[in-house]
Amino acid sequence: MTINSNHLPEQANIRHPITVGEALQNWAKQIDRLEARWMLQSVLAVDAAFLVAHADRELSPDEAARYRQMLARRAAGEPVAYLTGERGFYDLILKVTPDVLIPRPETELLVETALSSIAPDRCSRVLDLGTGSGAIAITIAKHRPLAQVTAIDLSSRALAVARANAQAQAVDNVTFVQGDWYANLVAGEKFDVIVANPPYIAEGDPHLAQGDLRFEPNLALVAKHNGWDCIRQIITHAEAYLHRDGWLLLEHGYDQASACRELLEKSGFVSIFSRTDLAGIERVSGGQCGSFSTAECL
Ligand code: GLN
Repeated sequence: MTINSNHLPEQANIRHPITVGEALQNWAKQIDRLEARWMLQSVLAVDAAFLVAHADRELSPDEAARYRQMLARRAAGEPVAYLTGERGFYDLILKVTPDVLIPRPETELLVETALSSIAPDRCSRVLDLGTGSGAIAITIAKHRPLAQVTAIDLSSRALAVARANAQAQAVDNVTFVQGDWYANLVAGEKFDVIVANPPYIAEGDPHLAQGDLRFEPNLALVAKHNGWDCIRQIITHAEAYLHRDGWLLLEHGYDQASACRELLEKSGFVSIFSRTDLAGIERVSGGQCGSFSTAECL
C-alpha cells in the first residue's frame, strides 16, 4: 500500500482530546479501515466490540501519540502485524515479531489438511519443520491434545516467539528444537505426520520487494535453486523420519504443485494429492510413505 504520510495529522496539530470515532475516521483516511481498527485496539488494549460501543471514548495524549506513530509507520509500509505484535491464525491470536513470517490464511489449509490426517483419539507424533511463530505446530497441538508435536526452526529468535506463543496458548504438547530441518532430531525418531511451510520463493523474485514481504525474514521466505532447495531437502529426506503410512504435507508456491507431486512420487510417496486454497491456487501437496519402502518405514 502506498500512502502519502503528509495526510497524517502532524503532532503539532493534534487537538486534544480526540475520540475513538475521530481517531478512526479523521486520522486514518489513508489506511485500510480494518487495519486502523486493529491498531487502535492494540493501543487501547480493547477488542473490536469496544471500539464500536465507545466511539466517544477520549484518547489520552499518550494513546493518541502512540496511535499516530503506528499510523505513520503503517503508511511507510511496515506490516500491521509487526506494529500490533499479533495476527489471527485459524482460531488463535498469535504473537508475531519481525523475527518470524506473518502467518497467512493460506497456511490454514495446511493445518486443516494435517488435522484431517491426525486421529483425535491417538498419541500421534507430528513434526513441524521451520515452525517460525509456531502457528502450525501450536494450532495442531491445541486441536489434537493427545498428539506430541516437535517443532523445529533454525532461528533461535523465531523459537523464542514460538515458545511464547505455546505458553500463551497453554499448550504443553509441543517440543521446540533448534536445527537445520531434520539435522537435530534424535536418531531413529519417527513421525506419523510431517508438516512444513518452508521458504519457497526464488532469490530475486520481484514479490520480495513488495508489501509485507519487504519486512519479513528472508530466512523464512527465500530458498536457493530457484525456490526449490528447502522443499527438495524436506521431501527427499522425509522417508527416514516417517512411520509406515505416515504423511508428508507441504505448503508451496502458486506454481510449484505439479513439480512437488513429481518429487514426492520419485521419493517413493503414494496417495499423492494437491489441495487448492481459497484463491483457487494449488497451495498444499502431500503424500503417504509408500508401501514399497516398508523396510525403512516401520
Ligand atoms: N506464501 C508466502 C508469500 O508468498 C511465502 C511463504 C513462504 O515462503 N513459505 O507471501
